[in-house]
Amino acid sequence: MKLRYKIAGLLVLAGVLASCQSSPATPTSKGVIDESKVVDLTYSFDDKTIYWPTAKPFTWEKEAWGQSAGGFWYTAARYSASEHGGTHLDAPVHFGEGKQAADEIPVANLVSPAVVIDIAEACAKNADYLLSVEDITKWESQHGRLPDDCIVLIHTGWGKFWGDKKKYLGTDAPGDTANLHFPGISREAAKLLADQRKINAIGIDTASIDYGPTRDFIAHQILNGANIYGLENVANLEKLPATGATLIALPMKIKGGTGGPVRIIAILP
Ligand SMILES: [Zn+2]
Repeated sequence: MKLRYKIAGLLVLAGVLASCQSSPATPTSKGVIDESKVVDLTYSFDDKTIYWPTAKPFTWEKEAWGQSAGGFWYTAARYSASEHGGTHLDAPVHFGEGKQAADEIPVANLVSPAVVIDIAEACAKNADYLLSVEDITKWESQHGRLPDDCIVLIHTGWGKFWGDKKKYLGTDAPGDTANLHFPGISREAAKLLADQRKINAIGIDTASIDYGPTRDFIAHQILNGANIYGLENVANLEKLPATGATLIALPMKIKGGTGGPVRIIAILP
């Protein structure tokens, strides 16, 4: 009897060990995301971060830093900034009356398959280049129709100018919005994306989805008006493939916010 119990016990143990090997272990922080496949699409926030010429830039000041009176290490700081600067989100309410605010965008829409439309070659020849309908249809002839619920990222190549305000915006004069030059999205392309495709969001590696010289911000009006949120000053777009990456873009949850800082990562296929 005793031997039989022992054998039965060993069989149970063997079964437990076998099941440990065959079924996935309880997830730990290591292994949930393969770090070699992660691309950080976010610029750091500091006093050099590029903001719209009329916006309040990012400020960060230390409130306490070092050994406290209590004898322990203690640090804390405060920050402030306009919503629209650095790597940030444009909530649909930014240009769409009654549309979603930053806190109202469904979380599922902040995690999307990413597609990248590369117009860097045309932009290198013309700083005021506008993404055209042809750019989109050419992309689709190579990769298929833009998938539903994707985020469309426009790669203009402007990321290489990040840190150099004059090159990145076309002007580095405070308050100067008359001399902005950088690529953006045409009215016709925005209309195609808003009316004939079903995308979650639009992102770009410039300061705005509308090009520098715009006066009516028509791409914002059309896309935000269709409840499509935007991502601006997106970093490292040259590191993403045309299709296959997954984007996670989590903005600060500002109640009623028109946008705000966003941490964006892409997970490569
Ligand atoms: Zn913005």
